[in-house]
Amino acid sequence: MSTRTAVYPGSFDPVTNGHLDIVERALALFDHLRIAVAYNKDKPGGLFTREDREAMIAEATSQYGDRVSVDSFHGLLVDYARDNGAGAVIRGLRAVADFDYEFQMALMNRHLCTDVQTVFLMADEAHFYTSSSLIREVATLGGDVSAQVPPCVLRALNDKFSK
Ligand code: ADP
Repeated sequence: MSTRTAVYPGSFDPVTNGHLDIVERALALFDHLRIAVAYNKDKPGGLFTREDREAMIAEATSQYGDRVSVDSFHGLLVDYARDNGAGAVIRGLRAVADFDYEFQMALMNRHLCTDVQTVFLMADEAHFYTSSSLIREVATLGGDVSAQVPPCVLRALNDKFSK
């Protein structure tokens, strides 16, 4: 039987419990999930380095063993998916705010490559307002984000921001 692989791309700066909820749901549908940190060689930016983001995702998903792999990519997502034998791209949807952008991206990716499907999954409503950008903002100001991120991310945020 062939292995069904999906790619879950994103910035993951840092990975949150919302992302992890989507990972869990994707694994109910696919045999293998390749979580891929998107980066731009010319504009590194962000709070955590690409390597740190990958390491935190790997730690937070270690219970899935080899059903999950963690990687990073730059360039076109559909090329990355095709090169890695993935027939699907996973994206998470929160409140209406995500829809417009995600819809445009999905249609563009379909235009670029007809054999990679975008699959949208909804996280539990507890994660509806969790976003990496809000986590970064709150953590920078010394707020408590322990309910929204896995322990390894909480440690990394504390290391960065504790006075
Ligand atoms: P990007 O910069 O590509 O949007 P993110 O790391 O912010 O990268 O998100 C990656 C994917 O995970 C996106 O599809 C995003 O909508 C989804 N996502 C992020 N946070 C949540 C959440 N709390 N619940 C559901 N989906 C989420």
